Amino acid sequence: MYKILIIDDSALAVKVLADILKDTYEVISAESGREGIELARKQLPSLILLDIEMPEMNGFEVLHVLKESKETEQIPVIFLTGLIDSVYEEKGFLYGAVDYIAKPYNSNVVKVRVKTHINLSEYRKQIEKQLDIDTLTNVYNRRGLEKYVRGIAAQAVEEQFIFNCIIFDIDYFKKINDTYGHLEGDHVLQRVAAVLKGCIPPETGYVARYGGEEFAVILPKLTPEEIRSIMTTVYKKIREAAIPNEHSGISEYLTVSAGGAGRILQNPQEATEVVKLADEMLYKSKESGRDRFTWAYSES
Ligand code: GH3
Ligand code: MG
Ligand code: MG
Ligand code: MG
Repeated sequence: MYKILIIDDSALAVKVLADILKDTYEVISAESGREGIELARKQLPSLILLDIEMPEMNGFEVLHVLKESKETEQIPVIFLTGLIDSVYEEKGFLYGAVDYIAKPYNSNVVKVRVKTHINLSEYRKQIEKQLDIDTLTNVYNRRGLEKYVRGIAAQAVEEQFIFNCIIFDIDYFKKINDTYGHLEGDHVLQRVAAVLKGCIPPETGYVARYGGEEFAVILPKLTPEEIRSIMTTVYKKIREAAIPNEHSGISEYLTVSAGGAGRILQNPQEATEVVKLADEMLYKSKESGRDRFTWAYSES
């Protein structure tokens, strides 16, 4: 059930509106702008119905604050107000509202407009999620990775936890394409992605396809020992998968090289340095014979 937040200083108005919507939605409400913003942040409703004329903080001010914050900026807001002047209506849209309903309203019209905007917003969320996923391997793509790194790096600085990055590169992947064909190469990428996802659940880390046959994994908070342990599992599972690469010159089967780095960040930009260092460690793995993991950890 989608959650709708009503923000209106009139308890009666809230009740009337809630009665219209409560069969279809979970309805929560606030009787002041400040309380409404707080609830929006905590409960992340699917849609907000917002009154304009309220003491202390009016609807425009509330919307302005909601639009300023990353968590709440995407929540669709519909003004529902006694102010019927088109100047206010225009202002509402300019502030970023998705709709403007003047009182007195028809309850069926409110219902269909709410439904329309929830549908649109859910559709948009879905599309945005898909934009972050690599269609071949079904792990996150570079776009997703960059977005995730921005968010987690800021959090890592604030909470002073370790930001770890590991980059994987399949050894002599070109040989797989050359030997078994490009389609089989695609399938191999899917299998490697599945192994990584299997070893690194979402609560532990973020798995992304970094480039053609390269994957990046971000593992926030893990100690170097925990990283080692996960990597031991990854290498074991890759071996067990026994994916043929008979002309690699290393083994009959596919192998991967990896490089990793971790650090407690002093500022979010340092995340880029960690990624770069992981890439340098990957290069070391390649140089020293492939099929191995090289790790760098520094205090700052
Ligand atoms: P190294 O051990 O040095 O990493 O050698 P490599 O052959 O893995 O590396 P190289 O960079 O020479 O080749 C990577 C190949 O990956 C080249 C490219 O055609 C192939 N590739 C990139 N993306 C895809 C893809 O989506 N599908 C398939 N089948 N091949 C891809
Ligand atoms: Mg009011
Ligand atoms: Mg490569
Ligand atoms: Mg490679």
